[in-house]
Amino acid sequence: MEKTNMIETAEQHLLHTYNRYPIVLTRGEGVYLYDAEGKKYLDFAAGIAVQSLGYANQELNEAIKNQVDLLTHTSNLFYNEPIARAAQRAVHAAGLERVFFTNSGTEAIEGAIKAAKKYAYTRDGHSGHEIVAMEHSFHGRSMGALSVTGNAHYQEPFAPLLPGVRFARFNDLDSVKELLTEKTCAILLETVQGEGGIYPAEHTFLEGVRRLCDEKDILLILDEIQCGMGRTGKMFAWQHYGVKPDIMTCAKAIGCGVPVGAFFLTERVAKKSLSPGDHGTTYGGNPLVGAAVDKVFEIFEREDIPGHAAEMGRYLEQKLQELSGDFACVLERRGLGLMQGLVLDVPVGEVVNRCLAEGLIVITAGGNVLRMVPPLVIGREHVDEMIRKLRHVLAQF
Ligand SMILES: *Cc1c(COP(=O)(O)O)cnc(C)c1O
Repeated sequence: MEKTNMIETAEQHLLHTYNRYPIVLTRGEGVYLYDAEGKKYLDFAAGIAVQSLGYANQELNEAIKNQVDLLTHTSNLFYNEPIARAAQRAVHAAGLERVFFTNSGTEAIEGAIKAAKKYAYTRDGHSGHEIVAMEHSFHGRSMGALSVTGNAHYQEPFAPLLPGVRFARFNDLDSVKELLTEKTCAILLETVQGEGGIYPAEHTFLEGVRRLCDEKDILLILDEIQCGMGRTGKMFAWQHYGVKPDIMTCAKAIGCGVPVGAFFLTERVAKKSLSPGDHGTTYGGNPLVGAAVDKVFEIFEREDIPGHAAEMGRYLEQKLQELSGDFACVLERRGLGLMQGLVLDVPVGEVVNRCLAEGLIVITAGGNVLRMVPPLVIGREHVDEMIRKLRHVLAQF
């Protein structure tokens, strides 16, 4: 099919929920993508923080292909070996004792909400508990996750949402305190806010939230769907802070391209929380995604991918800082490791379009932020190439 035909076919039949760039991607290799016309792109988006091992990783692809021929699905009525191995590696990496695999990030949030509600129900002997979430957060598009997403625009058409959700200001501990009631069962936040504009939690804020949770037996739920899996230079971003969540959500890079998410719980919480009959999924944690997750964690550990991300993150940060100094249209750099944002005072959508023309894929966040979440396997030469291209684009404004 011709490129224009492909785009027309898609536009005629897919529900129009995205304004897509007029580019048809056909294959990837390392940190580069190629479109239907053979044009090469340096990828600093990684399919929205998913392809952390880059494209066409042969070891991961072999593991997935082998599993396809053995067994792809069984249902959770039976055991399967790949998911048992994946679970063992995942809880070891997380330092949390229990995991439930889902098919996406939003479902991981749904599970985390249910787990927190069930925990409080078991403790108190009644339901009716509330959740404190953050303004400018993003937790997904299903109804429960949407209910805890602090974005009026996303929420408005879909009311009524889950009752009992209150929104505090991120990095403002007093605003959290003010919202706590007898009924609060959980405080939910992204360790580094992603879609909202790349805002890392401040140390005092996260420590303070943890303290509030400990004092009142409220569960701390950290959403690590975007900032987890090595992206910030530690396996999970909260490991920078010396606090530990009671429940953590994960997705995106945990499958490096196969659709899978997870929520993790401490043993203490798991014991009083979801038990047989309370929660389930047909596809979640099937052998196919199990083989991928198992291999992803194996590669992450063996190659110390978080360590590499930390090193590359320092280099990227330094280069972006230099660039910010050279362009008046860059107001601020924010981020942690290989999750970086540049606050621009020129139209960020236009910057993205011109980057695409230059063969560089970057994305946006929070209105005026240029977001960079590259594959974690980038080298210095890729950072240099990105900076060269971005400088060329910013010079046009
Ligand atoms: C992407 C994202 C989600 C939703 O994940 P999906 O797989 O798209 O459902 C939730 N939370 C955060 C922080 C995310 O970045």
